[in-house]
Parts: sequence; C-alpha cells; structure tokens
Amino acid sequence: MAEDTETEVPVVCPACETTTRVALSDLAETVDGHNDRLHDGEEVATVDPEVADHLLDMVADDLLAAE
Ligand SMILES: [Zn+2]
Repeated sequence: MAEDTETEVPVVCPACETTTRVALSDLAETVDGHNDRLHDGEEVATVDPEVADHLLDMVADDLLAAE
C-alpha cells in the first residue's frame, strides 16, 4: 500500500491557543470553518507564519514532483 504523504501544515489560533495540523487539501475549509464557528468569520486562525513562508516552496516542490 502506498503511504499517503500529503503535506500537513500547522494552523494556529491565538484566541483559542490551539495548534492543529491540517492536510493541505483541507486547509482552507478547516481555517474558514473554525473562524466561522468560533470567531464570527474573523480571520483569527491562520497558518503558522513561520511555516507560511515555506508553504509556497513546499507546494512548488509538490507541483514539480507531479510533473
Ligand atoms: Zn479559534
């Protein structure tokens, strides 16, 4: 069986003091859902800023690997 090695990124919510690892394909849905349910749609939860800097590189690597 092939391992599903989907990229996961940490989502931090300073208001809830939580960090959650989320698969890249679920990222927008998870962040939007959290902010909708808990923060009236405000963008409180976000991708960890330290990781966000690297995220484009990670995605680019994935895209290149898929070529
Ligand atoms: Zn929150």
